[in-house]
Amino acid sequence: MGLVKESVCKLCRREKQKLFLKGQRCFTDKCAMERKPYIPGQRAKRRLIETEFYTQLREKQKAKRYYGVWERQFRNYYKKAVRKKGITGEILLQLLETRLDNVIYLIGFAASRAQAKQLISHGHVAVDKKKVNVSSYQLKEGQEISIMASSKEIAPIVEAKETGSSLTIPEWLEVNLDNLKGKILRMPEREDIKVPVNERMIVELYSK
Ligand code: SF4
Repeated sequence: MGLVKESVCKLCRREKQKLFLKGQRCFTDKCAMERKPYIPGQRAKRRLIETEFYTQLREKQKAKRYYGVWERQFRNYYKKAVRKKGITGEILLQLLETRLDNVIYLIGFAASRAQAKQLISHGHVAVDKKKVNVSSYQLKEGQEISIMASSKEIAPIVEAKETGSSLTIPEWLEVNLDNLKGKILRMPEREDIKVPVNERMIVELYSK
């Protein structure tokens, strides 16, 4: 993920929460949050003043890091959510959750969101049978995601086929690992979205 230069595990430690940025490693005892569940570096020694602003900011940073999006992109998602009818925070998460890279990760075609971004930018993914190389592509109900025929034997995909059957696929998605296809059955509701953030705080932060 070009977005992040420092070790991704530091991002989890910074947020004091597992953000699942390293694929399978996140589920093992090698996870840095299992071994060093405190803020890295000198700052850990300082007492952090947890103001309301600070807490809201941390929620926003967590969501950005979880989905791997830049600040400007994130703010644009917020603006888009404000324009839509409904609860802004929930719409914001729905927009992030239905990004193509996130769905590729959720249906098990990639071990992490970062790897999903790579697969997409390298032209291995199609939506409704047309190649899409934009990670932020916004998926809609009924759309079908697939791996390009010429990419079915590349290492990450072969690996995904081997490990994918052990994954729990969210109810709003469908996957067929044999033919490497997935489908958006319906748009995700808030309870379908597992991102560990309080979206209301993000909305409060941006509406100041
Ligand atoms: Fe976060 Fe995964 Fe690293 Fe654990 S292994 S600290 S969950 S990125």
